[in-house]
Amino acid sequence: MKTIGLIGGMSWESSIEYYRIINETTKARLGGLHSAKSVMVSVDFAEIEALQHQGKWETAATHMIEAAQQLERAGADCIVLCTNTMHKLADSIQANTALPFLHIADATADRIRDARLQTIGLLGTRFTMEEAFYRDRLIQHHGLNVRVPEESDRRTIHRIIYDELCQGIIRPESKAQYLAIIDTLIEAGAEGIILGCTEIELLVTEGDCSIPLFPTSRIHAEAAVDWALSASALKD
Ligand code: GLU
Repeated sequence: MKTIGLIGGMSWESSIEYYRIINETTKARLGGLHSAKSVMVSVDFAEIEALQHQGKWETAATHMIEAAQQLERAGADCIVLCTNTMHKLADSIQANTALPFLHIADATADRIRDARLQTIGLLGTRFTMEEAFYRDRLIQHHGLNVRVPEESDRRTIHRIIYDELCQGIIRPESKAQYLAIIDTLIEAGAEGIILGCTEIELLVTEGDCSIPLFPTSRIHAEAAVDWALSASALKD
């Protein structure tokens, strides 16, 4: 079994889910007392959130690179960055570590392909919904059609992520707003919805919706276990 390296804390509300899902999945695969080998470097999200909203992405990148290098020194065999938004810095992180980087959008797109869906709605922070780093990867690397909510809905989604979900606040009114926005994406042709922020699955879950949901924390965490237990990894 390989050792999974996690960069967490963005927010810890979802990092704790990664830890739980990685261990539950490992136990389900191997049985008995098995659990995952993992190392987590967890950052102070207040510092990172300030850098994001001030547009200081180069400084944010130095924090992510430092975390990746800490994982490398701690004996991790791969890097799992436990946030969609910070994948904006995936290239910088990959350029500064020798470890394989398990990209959250690739893991999610693989599931969408397995479900044979083509047009997908994307919910996440404004960075994730509006910038090229995430959408273009889905479109150009994976051939998907991507629908995002309109501007005022994007603002609502973003505000609820930072003001509520990342602070452990789960409100039925916010869930109702998310479900209404999902309905508009369905009307726009979405066949499935990427919960493209690792906290959204704390608010909205599969039974809430008439079309398939793709919860990125769960998908990413399960992909990490697949990687750690893959035939080639098990040989070592
Ligand atoms: N966890 C969130 C995400 O998946 C948002 C927090 C962040 O900005 O990293 O995008």
